[in-house]
Amino acid sequence: MATNGNKASGHPDEMLPVSSSGRSNGFGTSQPVLENGAATESSSHSNMLNGGTAQPERFTFSPQPTIEDIRRLQAEFTDERDWNKFHQPRNLLLAMVGEVGEVAELFQWRGEVAEGLPDWSESEREQLAQELSDVLIYLVELAEKCRVDLPQAVIRKMALNRLKYPASKVHGSAKKYTEYKD
Ligand SMILES: [Mg+2]
Repeated sequence: MATNGNKASGHPDEMLPVSSSGRSNGFGTSQPVLENGAATESSSHSNMLNGGTAQPERFTFSPQPTIEDIRRLQAEFTDERDWNKFHQPRNLLLAMVGEVGEVAELFQWRGEVAEGLPDWSESEREQLAQELSDVLIYLVELAEKCRVDLPQAVIRKMALNRLKYPASKVHGSAKKYTEYKD
C-alpha cells in the first residue's frame, strides 16, 4: 500500500532483530535468541521414548520471539514511523491477505511440494520465510488492533477443536466434524 509516498505496510525488513548471544536481542531478556537454523528436528532419542514407534522427525521452532514479542516489535516499528493512522483493522486484514498471496505465489505452478521443501533453493526458502513472517506480523497486529489476546484465543480454539474432532473418532480420517455427530 503506497500512502503519501510511503509504503505504509509496516514491512518488517528493517525491524526483525538478528541477534546472537552477547548482543541485545530486542526481546527484553538476556536470553540468547537462536539464529535461523537453530530450530531443531526431534532426535531419534525422542522416537525411542514413544515406545520405539517409528515417527517422522518433527521440526520445532525456536522459543523466541513470543507472539507478544512480535506484537511489541511491530508496535514499536509502526510508532516510530507514525503509521498507526494507516493500520486500522480493515487495512491490516487486506495487507495480510496480500501477503498470503505472496506466499501462494512461491508455491504456484510447482505441483505438490514435499514436506521440508527438498527441491527448494536456499534463496527460495529465505523468500518463503520472509513472506510467512509478513503474514504472521500482520496477523498479530490485526489481533492487537481488534483486542484479541491471540495466545489465549489459540488455547481456547484448540480446546474447541479437540472437542469437535475427538481423536478416538477421527483418527486417520479427513471427514468433516458434522459427519461424526451422534
Ligand atoms: Mg511480503
